Order: sequence, then C-alpha cells, then structure tokens
Amino acid sequence: MLKNKTALVTGSTSGIGLGIAKALARQGANIVLNGFGEVEAAKAEVAALGVKVAYHGADMSQPAEIEAMMQAAAAEFGQVDILVNNAGIQHVASVQDFPLERWDAIIAINLSSAFHTTRLALPAMQAANWGRIINVASVHGLVGSAQKSAYVAAKHGVVGLTKVTALENATTGVTCNAICPGWVLTPLVQKQVDAKAAALGLSNAEATKLLLGEKEPSMQFTTPEELGELAVFFCSPAANNVRGVAWNMDGGWTAQ
Ligand code: NAD
Repeated sequence: MLKNKTALVTGSTSGIGLGIAKALARQGANIVLNGFGEVEAAKAEVAALGVKVAYHGADMSQPAEIEAMMQAAAAEFGQVDILVNNAGIQHVASVQDFPLERWDAIIAINLSSAFHTTRLALPAMQAANWGRIINVASVHGLVGSAQKSAYVAAKHGVVGLTKVTALENATTGVTCNAICPGWVLTPLVQKQVDAKAAALGLSNAEATKLLLGEKEPSMQFTTPEELGELAVFFCSPAANNVRGVAWNMDGGWTAQ
C-alpha cells in the first residue's frame, strides 16, 4: 500500500516510534529513522522488512538540526510523504518543584519539534497533493495527571497543532491526525514502573499492576504493534477524510 512512499518517524530507535516505523515498512514505505537509542539494531530491524532505511541523529530540541534532518531526508528519498512526530520525553514533579530545564526540554521535544517538522514537510506534501502527518500525542493530550505538568501541556498542545494543521489542509490530500496511547510498556514507562517499585518497596510485577490499575481499566498495555496498525490505517485510502482527530488507544482510560 505504501510502496514508493517515504516515512520519517522521529524518536524511532525504540518503543512506539520503532513499532510505527516497522508497521509502515511492512506496507512498503522507505523509512527515515531518528533518535538516540540502539541505531544499528533499529536500522537492521526495519531493513529486514525489505525497504530502504536511512537514519538522521537530529536532536529534536534543536530547530537547526531538525531542518538539517528534513533536508537530508528529501535529498535521500525525494520527499517525506508520511511524517510521524513521535519523539518524546517525560519528567515527573509537582508544578512548584518542576526543574526549569526539564520544562523547556519537554516543550521543545514533545511539542515544538512537531511544529518544526510539520512546517518543513508541508510544502512538498501540498505540491504532491498527498501527505500524512501523524502526531503521537497521548491520553495526556486529552486529560491530565498530577506531577506531569510539562508533558500534559505539551501533549494538549500537540492535539491543538493537529487540529489546526488538519484544517489548513482540509481541501487537499494532506491529512493530519493524532494518536493518543494510554500506557505502553516502553523504556519511557518502565522508568515510571521502576520509580514506583523503589518508592513503595514493590516488585516489578506489583508496581506494574498498580500503575495499570490506577488508570487503565483493561489492565493491559497497548503495544507498539497495535499503534503501528493505527498509523497504517491513517495512511490508507479509507482514512482520506479522517482529519484532525485525536484517536485514543488507551484500554478505556479516558472513557471513565
Ligand atoms: P521511548 O523512550 O521508548 O522512545 C522515545 C524515542 O525518542 C527514542 O527513540 C529516543 O531516543 C527519542 N528521543 C528522545 N529525546 C530525543 C531528542 N531530543 N531528539 C531525538 N529523539 C529523541 O518512549 P516511547 O514510550 O516509545 O514514546 C514515544 C512517544 O509516545 C512519546 O512522544 C511519548 O510521549 C508517547 N507516548 C508514550 C506512552 C507510553 O505509555 N509509553 C503513552 C502515550 C504517549
């Protein structure tokens, strides 16, 4: 379905980004990876699916590096047809104690980077009259949780950016939608499980159950593979008129 298309996925060396990159590669899309994780392993996993793979190590907190990444992707593959804004970080602290440097980093990486990649990707998508922008937001783009002010603010911002980008391109073949996962067991969440286990003197299994039980009625993690299939749907012809949605895959978290 996506043969001859190129997908750039930010923060795709692990977790959700890698899951989405692999799902798009299974549909034939060439992939541009980005992120600070296990680069060679991620490249090998995607290349094994029979598509071309490139990597750019841009730091998503740096607009000049983002611009260099977008130029490199266009030079390598002609243009970016599918943009997945996925890179993200977390920090947990109450508002009055939130380190200024962490606030700035979360807003830059989780929100502003999506603005920069989107503004740089749009002209070529508009010229081709086809494009897909998929923003990995979170349930925290829809509801709040204590101790996560910067993350919740950034993710609500991503949902807003998604709607405006969708509206500005609504009469074209360029769509923009957000995915809002609940808990997904990636390195980002394992750190929160570890912190809970340490703080309460629990085993990994007990802390995991507590984490899920607080928020997610299904008591199950959403998987990167499931999120990848939702991204594939957004890229399909059936989703031509899906514009500006924030689609949660959250085990019932926001239905409560
Ligand atoms: P992860 O830690 O496994 O992956 C994050 C990726 O972003 C990695 O590839 C990392 O190297 C990259 N990254 C971090 N800082 C970067 C920077 N400055 N520049 C470039 N790349 C950078 O985390 P994940 O759980 O897969 O998270 C991916 C996205 O999904 C994030 O936006 C996160 O907010 C969102 N999300 C995660 C969950 C969850 O439960 N795990 C739930 C909802 C939303």
